[in-house]
Amino acid sequence: MSIAADAKEMQGEIARFRHELHQEPEIGLDLPRTQEKVLKALDGLPYEISLGESTTSVTAVLRGGAPGALGAEPVRKPTVLLRADMDGLPVQERTGVEFSSKIDGAMHACGHDLHTSMLAGAATLLAERRDQLAGDVVLMFQPGEEGFDGAGHMIREGVLDAAGRRVDAAYGMHVFSSLEPYGQFCTKPGVMMSASDGLFVTVLGAGGHGSAPHSAKDPVTAAAEMVTALQVMITRQFNMFDPVVLTVGVLQAGTKRNVIPESARFEATIRTFSEASRDRMMTAIPQLLKGIASAHGVEVDVDYRGEYPMTVTDEDETHTAENVISDMFGDSRLSRWATPISGSEDFSRVLAEVPGTFVGLSAVPRGVDHTTSPFNHSPFATFDDGVLSDGAALYAELAVSRIATLAAGN
Ligand SMILES: [Zn+2]
Repeated sequence: MSIAADAKEMQGEIARFRHELHQEPEIGLDLPRTQEKVLKALDGLPYEISLGESTTSVTAVLRGGAPGALGAEPVRKPTVLLRADMDGLPVQERTGVEFSSKIDGAMHACGHDLHTSMLAGAATLLAERRDQLAGDVVLMFQPGEEGFDGAGHMIREGVLDAAGRRVDAAYGMHVFSSLEPYGQFCTKPGVMMSASDGLFVTVLGAGGHGSAPHSAKDPVTAAAEMVTALQVMITRQFNMFDPVVLTVGVLQAGTKRNVIPESARFEATIRTFSEASRDRMMTAIPQLLKGIASAHGVEVDVDYRGEYPMTVTDEDETHTAENVISDMFGDSRLSRWATPISGSEDFSRVLAEVPGTFVGLSAVPRGVDHTTSPFNHSPFATFDDGVLSDGAALYAELAVSRIATLAAGN
């Protein structure tokens, strides 16, 4: 039977696993219960398992049993890596689904429960085809995608060499609860997602009585000006055809309406789509904020922290994935994106090291308008189980077909 047909038969099992994960989301790099569930799902399958040292990651290596393309042991056995992230978010679930999170204040609002269950499904599909694989598969179950750089931790602990040599190609997948109609696979060669950086600003003034601001140094008015000046700076100093996004998501100061506080602070997220813009941000922001502080006679501390690089997919690997998707599901299921999206991913770190690609998969609930449905990270974000078997099948088929072409010397 084909991988897609086998996967269809596993749909119920994959969905049950997804629900288990969904009910018990964990956040960050330490996901002991999730790790336990993944190990249970892999139990009995012929994988070499290693666990993270600094995190609760799981790396599973399947040794293919087929000889090389010429009937002999290939000189160099190809290796393909498949990645799923496993962490949830600090969001209070409000979807109302019957398998809703049982953990107060935690939710699989980004669909990583789907990724983990799909890759566990692929683990079975691949194990059943072990004898046909002329190479090895590395499964990368990573924690801490949501701002904890779980991928960076796993790379430092050697996931890219887990099979004993560097992987030749790497594939990741991400589901969406919006953006595209149900079941669409999305690809883009080159820059697919933005870089993400963090900005942490503290304005230091001198506190005083709210009735006598002239005898204090008000950090609130200076911080307010900074917040709006950053938006103006973006429209004046950056090329609109190389877009950037800056959003202030934290703004804090003061304790009482008639007290001028000592300090004010804000935090922003910054998304860029080119190294040039990212570099420019790192110099333009401190220059602007220090200028405003100086004009108001206050001090400012500017902390610009690089987070995730841009997600840049390999052109050839993207076309490989597109061909696999078209062959398996038909060309109508494939959306080739013309532009990147302003989300960010730490799978970018894998793609910076080895060729590979990232595939989007729309899990918008059937019958719901994908243009208005709540997006990932919303407490209402709902993902349709129906995509699970197709996602598992795609993971497995990417490994099988890429190992075949690599073993044939392509
Ligand atoms: Zn995510």
